Amino acid sequence: MISLRWNRCRAGLAGLGIFLAFLCGCAHEVRPPSYPNIVFILADDHGAQALSAYDSPPQRSPLRTPGIDRLAREGMRFDRFCVENAICAPSRAAFLTGCMSARHGVVDNSKSFDATQPTWPALLRARGYTTAIKGKWHLKSQPVGFDDWEVLIDQGEYWNPRFVTPTGTVQREGYCTDIITERAVDFLSAQAKTQKPFALVVHHKAPHRSWQPAPRHYWMFANDDLPEPATLFDTFAKRGGASKLQSMSVAEDLTPQDLKLVPPKGLTTAQLAAWTAAHAGRVAAAQTARDAGPEAWRRFAFQTYAKDYLRCVAAVDESVQRVLGELDRLGLSENTIVIYSSDQGWFLGEHGWYDKRWMYEESLRTPFLIRWPGQVKPGSTSAALCQNIDLAPTLLAAAGVPIPERMEGRDLAPLFTDAFAAWRDAIYYRYYEEGPPHNVPAHDGLRLERLKLINFHTLSGSDAWELYDLEADPDELRDLSRIPSMAKVLQQLRQRLTELRREHGCTDLLPPR
Ligand code: CA
Repeated sequence: MISLRWNRCRAGLAGLGIFLAFLCGCAHEVRPPSYPNIVFILADDHGAQALSAYDSPPQRSPLRTPGIDRLAREGMRFDRFCVENAICAPSRAAFLTGCMSARHGVVDNSKSFDATQPTWPALLRARGYTTAIKGKWHLKSQPVGFDDWEVLIDQGEYWNPRFVTPTGTVQREGYCTDIITERAVDFLSAQAKTQKPFALVVHHKAPHRSWQPAPRHYWMFANDDLPEPATLFDTFAKRGGASKLQSMSVAEDLTPQDLKLVPPKGLTTAQLAAWTAAHAGRVAAAQTARDAGPEAWRRFAFQTYAKDYLRCVAAVDESVQRVLGELDRLGLSENTIVIYSSDQGWFLGEHGWYDKRWMYEESLRTPFLIRWPGQVKPGSTSAALCQNIDLAPTLLAAAGVPIPERMEGRDLAPLFTDAFAAWRDAIYYRYYEEGPPHNVPAHDGLRLERLKLINFHTLSGSDAWELYDLEADPDELRDLSRIPSMAKVLQQLRQRLTELRREHGCTDLLPPR
């Protein structure tokens, strides 16, 4: 199997070398294998329901994503790939370190990442890889472990963004997704001329709030309404109090900036002129919807925000097409692992929401697609319970680097060839942030293949628990935790949750009860 990981271009020569060495009994002459290049593309807040490779009836999005879909066609799509904390900075740190928030330390967006802890890029760099990151970093500290880095400041700007580099800050005119793509492609072109393996991290800002599309996408869906999610008008009737506490309602919490009732800041004169022409009439349309009542307003807010969100995804998909095309052109596709994922999923109007944070499926699950010629079967899927902490061990193993003990994730490789490979049967999740602006209560929980248990830490009594049967109730509308016939199941799951908290060192972080 190891030979499959070698550079196809050099595999013949290397294989012959091993064969001759074996015949001669002089194994010390064996040439070291050439390990795969890596391109890891991470979007920000890209939910699987806005990605056509994840389409399942009824279709939630009319947007086609042929670039990302190509990875599904030529590689593997993971259908139960979850994050350990559905918010930006903690998830990015988990992807880098293979550790959960309690161990990598970035429990919420306010914390600074200790970039000296072991990360897969730093370990690959020590192994001889050339490493680079282009785009969003969002971890406050400066990147460590990269030969070449060029990162947005904090959340970054959609227009004319500033990038921090090892030699200072530069501002680049244009649209953020396109600029990051060009910087990534430039890196690939330079690497194609060398013999060293490389790892390129491409981290897009899009489709993060405030969902500002490129002008070429301003008119996309202009004349069509998007399909509404079945739960757009969710009343939270059969659940405890947690879901009512949030401030992430499309009807109540989107701002005039979110709805493009005022222009974005920082545009050039030409950019502003194009924006103004495309958004003429939106203020009047918003007023008409307001006047028509709460239901019409909710529909208007959903359509307006979701269309801009999908337009931002369209540019990200074009970026993936461009990167894959460049790998083809440079002759690198055969020996390069390409992964597409997001730092967490997203509520695209489900339950009447935007944003993420919750352990509910839309934000817990995130897209994850991997293409690795010779190792991953084209067009395959996996329903295994995987997590963002699995990325680092997977990439280290691919490069022949020992996986540090502290990493809590697992190498995904057994799943590439065997859909029934032994794998974990539960994942642990924990969300720490609390209070404004979104007021989602802190919680943790476990997800099994069929059942999910959530514990809200600052609620009390029966409202502190939610239990869902994901097979019978995939939209998580009926909390079963107070159903008498489920008492024994609830007790078993609570015991299992206690074990998982202990396993991941999370018991001390629970607030006193
Ligand atoms: Ca995010």
